[in-house]
Amino acid sequence: MNLAHLLQRMARQYPNRAALFQGTQAVATHGAWAQRSAHLAQQFQTAGLKPGDRVALFMHNHPRYLEVMFGAWWAGLVVVPINAKLHVREAQWIVDNAQASWAFVTRDVTTDTGEQLQGLQRVIDVDSAEANALWRLPEDHQGAAPNTPIAERQPDDLAWLFYTSGTTGRPKGVMITHRNLMTMGMAYFTDVDAIDMQDAIAYAAPMSHGAGLYAIPHLMAGARHVIPASGGFDAAELFELGRALGPLSLFAAPTIVKRLVDHAEQADITPERCAHSFKTIVYGGAPMYVADIQRALRIMGPRFVQIYGQGESPMVGTALSRFHLSDTAHPEHAQRLASIGVAQTPVQIRVTDSHGQDLAQGEVGEVLIQGDSVMAGYWRNPEATQAAIRDGWLFTGDMGSLDAHGFLTLKDRSKDLIICGGSNVYPREVEEVLLQAPGVSEVAVIGAPDPEWGEVVVAFVVAQPGVTLSTQALDAFCLNEIARFKRPKRYELVSSLPKNNYGKVLKTELRQRLSQP
Ligand code: AMP
Repeated sequence: MNLAHLLQRMARQYPNRAALFQGTQAVATHGAWAQRSAHLAQQFQTAGLKPGDRVALFMHNHPRYLEVMFGAWWAGLVVVPINAKLHVREAQWIVDNAQASWAFVTRDVTTDTGEQLQGLQRVIDVDSAEANALWRLPEDHQGAAPNTPIAERQPDDLAWLFYTSGTTGRPKGVMITHRNLMTMGMAYFTDVDAIDMQDAIAYAAPMSHGAGLYAIPHLMAGARHVIPASGGFDAAELFELGRALGPLSLFAAPTIVKRLVDHAEQADITPERCAHSFKTIVYGGAPMYVADIQRALRIMGPRFVQIYGQGESPMVGTALSRFHLSDTAHPEHAQRLASIGVAQTPVQIRVTDSHGQDLAQGEVGEVLIQGDSVMAGYWRNPEATQAAIRDGWLFTGDMGSLDAHGFLTLKDRSKDLIICGGSNVYPREVEEVLLQAPGVSEVAVIGAPDPEWGEVVVAFVVAQPGVTLSTQALDAFCLNEIARFKRPKRYELVSSLPKNNYGKVLKTELRQRLSQP
């Protein structure tokens, strides 16, 4: 089993169909993509790289991302994706820990500091003359089928060594196998969406994360892959790109969904016209609040699907389908909107107490996942692996509860739980309430140490443009909606929330802010 066979299969069937786009410009057919990846594979081999060796990608979104990814797999190598927003020294730590042999970079990842990655056999800037030479096919290869054989790999061999964001300590390398990613690719068809050959996936979120992995199901279907000309997220550009190329599918963190919806509202784009630009918007990676998804459905129409997963079971955990999101007549529709859906086809989900005992419906405990999408373990870290995978179940560190129909509602990660005077307060619940208060755009709730209560609830609130919020009004709103002990004791009115490259609010940073005098 080797993921590179997916590319070869499409290149054989449809060699001349355009596959990779930069903006509206086609930059490779399936045939050319396979040629380039096979050619890169050959050069890895010539340089002495062996199956299992690691190649790091410290790149912003770029059409060559997918060519390198599949080139590495073609040669049996392991891809190490690195978040392009990391400092070079953080990337260096990952490169060293993974003992990568080569790295591919985009120039912008080093411009802030001018520092370069060290200790690798080769570091290749994908926009350089050196890269162009590496990519240039020999004359006798032009137009012919790739003649480098795909390296044989076993289902449990590594394909993707993904480093966790490391908000608590050093990042850990998550070992994702070919089987894990095949499973993820097929689960897209069973649990997210049917992909058609005419479809196009746009990479608006970093390809070093789940968004890049969604290349796999789209390649399975022979769809097109589009890297926006801006290289990232720009709402107006995406609407335009969809109109030009046909409706796009994309993965977006909730914060990006919000910006798309804001754009549609401001530019007065009806749900019918949104359908010309977007087929399916898959959201996940961070909480989507009920008020936000209701607004998104109202303004952009029924084109959303939610997924829940984590680096340790990439993109595969639960899914809340387009059907469930729009089934407004169902008596539990409101609860379902607040949930993250049901277990995806290839996995089972349990909710247990701290001893691994199953909890009754509705009780909150740790979410466990088992199935073919779950990682092989942490890279060279048996203690962390033993703590995370017990009796074949992945302990996700997320807290949640299951209902009678298998819908999972996430609370918060266990470390985000606030214990105020002995009572548990789930920040998400307070955030959901505050988001409904007039004039509120974004909220993050954390616990702050307190001599009297142990911890107190603190809310960081961002106002909608042009609105001045008053803490008295927010407090009065909460008094009407939630138990007194859950009300924030303190409000911090801020202009924005700190977020990482993947759109997750950095609560650790908010905690640090509070601890500073
Ligand atoms: P990562 O490993 O960086 O992909 O982060 C995974 C974590 O993001 C999960 O363990 C959850 O805490 C959070 N997460 C992922 N998907 C969702 C979702 N749909 N709703 C809420 N939180 C999510």
